[in-house]
Amino acid sequence: MRSIFPDKEIRFFRQKNRSADKTMPDNNSEKALRLAGRLIQDHHLSADDYQFLIDNRNEETDRCLREAAVKVRKEIYGEAVYVRALIEISNICRNDCLYCGIRKSNHNCSRYRLSKEQILSCADEGYRLGFRTFVLQGGEDPYYSDEMLCGIVSSIKRTHPDCAVTLSMGERSRESYEKLYLAGADRYLLRHETASPTHYRKLHPPEMSYENRMRCLKDLKEIGYQTGCGMMIGSPFQTSADLAEDLAFIEAFKPDMCGIGPFIPHKDTPFADEPAGTAELTCFLLSVIRLIHPPVLLPATTALGTIEPDGREKGLCSGANVVMPNLSPVSVRKKYELYDNKTCTGEESAQCVSCLGKRVMSVGFELVTDRGDIKK
Ligand code: SAM
Repeated sequence: MRSIFPDKEIRFFRQKNRSADKTMPDNNSEKALRLAGRLIQDHHLSADDYQFLIDNRNEETDRCLREAAVKVRKEIYGEAVYVRALIEISNICRNDCLYCGIRKSNHNCSRYRLSKEQILSCADEGYRLGFRTFVLQGGEDPYYSDEMLCGIVSSIKRTHPDCAVTLSMGERSRESYEKLYLAGADRYLLRHETASPTHYRKLHPPEMSYENRMRCLKDLKEIGYQTGCGMMIGSPFQTSADLAEDLAFIEAFKPDMCGIGPFIPHKDTPFADEPAGTAELTCFLLSVIRLIHPPVLLPATTALGTIEPDGREKGLCSGANVVMPNLSPVSVRKKYELYDNKTCTGEESAQCVSCLGKRVMSVGFELVTDRGDIKK
């Protein structure tokens, strides 16, 4: 496989991330490499060791983890990269997450929601294009009552019984999740955002709670959904200790899917002037997560492709095995702006799935269009 991480580039990443390569005493490098070896062998480290590995990562640990991650991913999924069609059904949200461009306090956001008919016609178009998983994502918009959302899910499943439906509609009651599951929803994505309650409070307004987010994830798993968690990388106030807690949480929760991508500031949020996360740290963590839980479905996210033009290819070469191009109606795509400069055209668009296939092939993998369930 062609490497897209030339040494020169890795050095550039290191400088950008203030990594301590040059100043790090050798015994720290050696210990980091030993921990990488243990992770590859045992799929487990303590939270302190995850933090040490993050703080002391270097070219050698990066390469070693990346190669091991790609190897285990190949053992389970071969060359396959699964593709999901993402339908962003509404940018109306009752929440006010400080990082998010569609937060309710952003009065510059031009709001939209898709009708049932629009969503079903997107799914029909996606089916014709070859997609067999539809991801319905949106803000927490009260318009999508249980009745409305169950009707949408069951209609998609009736018309396209060979397809999986993934929901990513935020926090709901256990009863609501149960109804949606009975209506036919197969999977649910709900990033935990951060496993640290203290960090959670710095990213969210007081009316939102870490406990409820975690309650939702527990309910989803118990109900039987293929459940996805995840977090932004480099979000404001995030420390390596927070990331280590995220990794320990992922190890314990064993999600079926895990969405991670760099934080990217949005100009109309309180975090407008905060620095973005990096592709380098995101890719490093993709490798670590693949090794923690080898069968996990791990997307190379839009945010990773936004922060660097070949971010998604780098993600695939670090252990990711899912891509999610955008199938929303073209007229609303720009409006679902979670962060500045979100890419939603070209290979990011579901209509250009063949171009995306070529990109995936350029790094030695193959885009496949089956349902792509987790292989346990
Ligand atoms: N409302 C649903 C929820 O809360 O899960 C789904 C939509 S929400 C906008 C989807 C994800 O976008 C969040 O879980 C968050 O991690 C990510 N996101 C929001 N703002 C972001 C930003 N500025 N940079 C990167 N990712 C962001």
